[in-house]
Amino acid sequence: MALVDQFERKADYLRIAVTDRCNLRCRYCMPAHGIDFVNRKELLSYDEIVRLANIFKDSGVNKVRVTGGEPFVRRDMDVLIQSLCEIFQSVHITTNASLIHEHMPLLKHPHIQSLNISLDSLCAKTFANITRRDEFEMVHRNILKALNEGITVKLNMVVMKGVNDHEIPAFVNFGRTHGTEVRFIEAMPFNEYDGNKDLFLSHDAILKRITSAFTTVEPRVDSLNSSSLKYEVDGLTRIGIIPAYTRSLCGTCNRIRLTSKGDMLTCLYAKVGVNLRDKMRLENLSDEALKEIIHAAVWKKRKSGLEEEELRHETVFQSMTSIGG
Ligand code: SAM
Ligand code: SF4
Repeated sequence: MALVDQFERKADYLRIAVTDRCNLRCRYCMPAHGIDFVNRKELLSYDEIVRLANIFKDSGVNKVRVTGGEPFVRRDMDVLIQSLCEIFQSVHITTNASLIHEHMPLLKHPHIQSLNISLDSLCAKTFANITRRDEFEMVHRNILKALNEGITVKLNMVVMKGVNDHEIPAFVNFGRTHGTEVRFIEAMPFNEYDGNKDLFLSHDAILKRITSAFTTVEPRVDSLNSSSLKYEVDGLTRIGIIPAYTRSLCGTCNRIRLTSKGDMLTCLYAKVGVNLRDKMRLENLSDEALKEIIHAAVWKKRKSGLEEEELRHETVFQSMTSIGG
């Protein structure tokens, strides 16, 4: 039976944060120091992830995303991704691309449908300032390598006022030159220290930057559950803007999130949901019992992320590495 919520939205897309660790320290995502990483024993094991993936598949999920933290910092990630490719025909990975050169053969698996790569600047100095690490050359080289290998790459740029917003037109052109979709993301208040309050630029502000730099910018209808609003620029290239903070696309949301320690979230802005790892490890529940819990949690999903946040009675502030974006 499919996973459906009380507003008749079907949940058929699972995003798994396989680790909360990362080799970069993007300012909008993590503090520089003092991060309280999840103890390795608390992480969902690969066997547990595969078990849950099968349960979700039986419940109608047909698309999975591997995210983090940085997925490729976790040991033997290829083994997990290979297992997920055996379960799902639509596997996607979100990565900072700094380590993907070691995984190219796997990334060409026919079930891996796209690699979403975070790239917030085309300038090495700004990249280092944002990520607090000197990895621009490696990331840039790996993006070109993946494109050369015929892997479908989408670029994610978190737009930050006064930091990289001047690069928006350059990113549109980069996408056009390399035949890759660029998605501009509104900065969300998740970085565990200051909530990104000075960086925020809305969907409308980002769109304005694009319309003032190019001749024609036409809205385009994308797939029903797309997380981004799509536009065609000068009839030549398609870009997306993800209204991650203004939350105008909640009405078609089909996503379920699993954190690295097994918390299930039906919304990015929701209070931490049921912990599926404990239901397996401590309560030894059967697959059927787990399915019931998952169905009940999805059913209770609120109408929008704004409503979820309001119900928390607190500002959402945690780092995105625990939830995977
Ligand atoms: N390390 C991988 C990466 O950077 O692509 C995967 C994990 S990262 C948490 C997933 C996505 O969340 C990335 O596209 C990242 O840019 C985005 N992200 C992280 N923190 C964010 C924030 N505060 N606001 C908007 N997007 C954010
Ligand atoms: Fe790491 Fe991705 Fe967060 Fe950057 S956005 S610190 S690459 S998890």
